[in-house]
Formats: sequence, structure tokens, C-alpha cells
Amino acid sequence: DGIAYCQMIFDANGRPIDFTYLRANKNFEPLTGLKDVVGKNVTQIIPGITTSNPELFEIYGRVASTGIPEDFEIHVDSLDRWFFVSAYSIKKNFFVAVFQNITERKLMEKKIEDAKIAARNVFEDLQAEQKELALTRAHTEAILASIGEGVITVDLLGTITRMNQAAQLLLGWKEEDAIGKLLFDLVPIENEKGKLIEHADRPTSIALLAGTSTTTTTTTTDEAWRGSLSMIKTIPGVYYYIRKDKTRFPAGISVTPVISENTVVGAVELFRDITKEREIDKVKTEFVSLASHQLLGPITAIKWHSEMLLSGNAGPLSARQRNFCEEMLQSSKEMIDLVDALLNVSRLELGALDLKLEPTDVVAVINQIITVQKGEIARKNISFTIRVADDLPVILADQNLLRSVVINILSNALKYTPPKGTIECSVRRVKVGERVDGRKINEDSIIIKIADTGCGIPAHQQDKIFSKLFRADNVRMLNSGGTGLGLYIVKLIMDRFGGLVWFESQEQKGTTFFVSIPLVHKILDVSL
Ligand code: ADP
Repeated sequence: DGIAYCQMIFDANGRPIDFTYLRANKNFEPLTGLKDVVGKNVTQIIPGITTSNPELFEIYGRVASTGIPEDFEIHVDSLDRWFFVSAYSIKKNFFVAVFQNITERKLMEKKIEDAKIAARNVFEDLQAEQKELALTRAHTEAILASIGEGVITVDLLGTITRMNQAAQLLLGWKEEDAIGKLLFDLVPIENEKGKLIEHADRPTSIALLAGTSTTTTTTTTDEAWRGSLSMIKTIPGVYYYIRKDKTRFPAGISVTPVISENTVVGAVELFRDITKEREIDKVKTEFVSLASHQLLGPITAIKWHSEMLLSGNAGPLSARQRNFCEEMLQSSKEMIDLVDALLNVSRLELGALDLKLEPTDVVAVINQIITVQKGEIARKNISFTIRVADDLPVILADQNLLRSVVINILSNALKYTPPKGTIECSVRRVKVGERVDGRKINEDSIIIKIADTGCGIPAHQQDKIFSKLFRADNVRMLNSGGTGLGLYIVKLIMDRFGGLVWFESQEQKGTTFFVSIPLVHKILDVSL
């Protein structure tokens, strides 16, 4: 302890204003940091003490006058130290101060107090977060319960973490039995023919790996072509989920990866039973097929008889009669084209088309088509060029389908390019991994490119261009005639070929279509 013996000094009104150190022990100096205090007044040794610590004079004054001891803690500002002091008086106006330096204890106390406050703040934050979490969880529960589609969530490894009621009903599994199991083991998926879809090929694995949403083809509606939007990967073909009791149902599947801090941490798989949709679609397609077949007979008869009349078989025609007959012939030809297109669509959709694969010289097929179109090219005064690489292999393909693809794209280019425009066609071979028009080609392929300087496709309608019966606004106004089925057929065929078709286009400038046909043929079953 430090000890100082002091004499109190009072002013004329008896107020304590200073004190003189009469004695101090040897601990005084190390504890206070003050030297040679004996004989000096505190106001001399610690200037400013009167204003910084007026209570010191009050307390010592009281003790020295009354003789009643007092204990107190004080922070002496100018020394920046805390002291615990016991003050006694053995003689009136004199006092002894016994003190300890408690700065460290005080600092510790302050730290503890700060820590307490910090802990309290953290606790309060946690409570708020917990509340919010509970709210979010309640929302999620409600959303999951109210969704009519099956929802399964998985972690990065494909372990099931949640399964909503709809999924439980659709699959026959209880959520508590499913959680913790691998989705791949618990709910196998197979294709139309009953072949199990391997782990890596499941939509969920693809979504987890690619970090992009993945959907499967369900019907022939627009949905099937959402693949053209780069964020969503579409898998052609229909997948079947196997229930707990081993029965199966066709499903429309959509998987979205769960991304946290830029990393994929899991996925949400959404699915619904599309048995009914597929039945309705099939009935629709069958109806179109039947109606088209029935229409073909009468229309062909009209065409044939108009041709007979025009050839003079039924006697000479007046100019007016000839005119009517030509109108009739033209209309019947257009109608036959439409019915043909409809028949092709229904055959492709029903999968009723037998592929006839034979060694095919792609360029020869294209040249045949150009020969047929030569008249129209000349009539419109189109500058037409074709560039062919000299390393093109013969590929195994169905020539009729390949012809259909090229005819549709080339006749569009001709139809939608004004007179004196340009059409450039090129055929080349690309190796796996090469890029064509910014797009990476996944296998060795032949690329057919057809570029025109026509009216282009409006940007806001480009995502619908492969949909059934779709025609863009700018060509409707041209009155150019068309069914809106050509590109739909092209897309169906390319899906069947395992190839790709895409385009880039700018209104008023032109359109370039790309077709990529894999050299090693993969026939995909994309029928409904
Ligand atoms: P259509 O019988 O109307 O040509 P398609 O299915 O072949 O039907 O094409 C669908 C639509 O795509 C067309 O109506 C047109 O709006 C657009 N389109 C296709 N090719 C071209 C092109 N080369 N230039 C401009 N628009 C095109």
C-alpha cells in the first residue's frame, strides 16, 4: 500500500482547498509516479487537480474535520490512474491516506463490462436472426406444402434433404424415409424404353455440375424450345420416375441449382406427372395426322384436275377460265404443302418415322435442292454462292430428313430476302471443342451455314422461332405465305439427329442459320 500523511488546508470560509504532504512511504512513488512530495502541496505536484478531482478535497476535508474514516475509489485524471483509498484522521485537520493502485483491475472490469455489452448485442442479433429464420422456415414450409408439383431438395452429393407432400404422393415415399438417402438410389429415372438414366445424366447431376437450370422436354409446346435460352439447359426426351412400388410415370422435370456465395451447394428438383398432357398431345397429333390424310385426297384431285384443264385436255380455255384454273392450281399447291408439313409434323411427333440411314454426301443433297430452287433464285435476282470445304466426309444420315432441313432453311432465306439480295451457303467440318459462331461444338460435326440479307427476325420474337405455327410479325406483313411449321420440323429433325440448329439475326439486315450434324450418328428418341 502507499501511505501519505497530510495536513488539510482550508480557505477563509472553512472550505478544503489543498493539502500538504508531511510524510510518504516508499511505495508512494511507484504507485503514484510522483517524486519528492514531502513538504509540498498537492496543487503544486498535480496541477489541475482542483478542477479534475474536486471530490478529493471534499472527502479528505470531511475526514480531517470529522475524524470519520472513509473508503473510496478515484480516477486521478492527470495521472491516468485509479486508486482505492482509505482515509483516516488521527488529529483534527490532519489525515492519512492509505491507497492501492487499482488501474489494472479497473481496466479489466471495463473490459469485462465491454465484453458483456458485446455479448448482449450478439445475443440480441442472434435472437432477431432466429426470429427471421423461423419466419423464413414457416414461409418455405407453406410454399412447399402448397405447391402441386413434387419438390425434392438435395445437397451437393445428391442426398435428399427435403421432400414435399406432392412428391411423397407422387412417389409413394415418406419424407422421413427419404431424407438422408441418395436421390439416385431412392428415385431411379428411366427413359421411354425402360433404360435407367445414369447418375451423371440425371437432370439433377447436370444442374449441380453446370450450375444452370435444367429442364426436360415434356410436350411439343413452346416449353420444349426453352433450351434456346442460354440459362436453361433442355434435355430432349421424356423421363419416367420409378415409384416405391416400382410402377412408373412420365415426368416434366425442372431442376434449379442452389447457389450460395457463388458456389453450388445443392439443387431443387421440381417434377410433375405429365401422363395426361402426353395423352392429350398424342390425341391431338393423331387427329391432325388423320385429318391431313383425309384432306390430301380431295386437294390432290383439285390440283390434278386443274392441271388437266390447263393442259387443254377438256378443250380450249378462255383467258378468264385459264386465270381461274391457275388460281385454283396455285392454291391447291399451297394447301398440299401445308398438309404435307402437317403430316411430317405428326409423323415426327408420333415417332412414326423410320429413319433410313445411308451414306450421304451432304453437298450432293444441298446441290439437288439448289437445282430445284434455281428458277426462284434467278427470278428474284439473288446473288447466291456456295462454299464447300474439301475435307468433307460421307456421313450416315437419313437423306429425306436432311433434305427437309436444308429445304426449309434455304426456302426461308429465299422467301424472306428481297430481290437483288444475297444468300451465302457454306459447308465445313469442325472438330470437337471448336467454336462456331461463339458456340462450342461437342463432337466432330458438319456445319451447314446459310446466311441471307433478308428482313431478319425481330429480337423480341427470336426465342419463339422454333415453336409450332409461329410466324414473326415482320413476315406476316410481307404477305409472303408460309405455314410456321418449317422451322418446327427442322428442330424436331435435328433433335432426332442429335444435332443442333440455331441462328443469329438482325431485323432489316439479315439472318444466318447454322446446322450442325454430328459425324458419329446418335439417334435420339424424342418422339412423344
Ligand atoms: P414459315 O412457313 O412462316 O416460313 P418457318 O417455321 O419456316 O415458317 O419459320 C418461322 C418464322 O421464322 C417465319 O415465319 C419467319 O418469321 C422467321 N424466319 C425464318 N427464317 C427466316 C429468315 N431467313 N429471315 C427472316 N425470318 C425468318
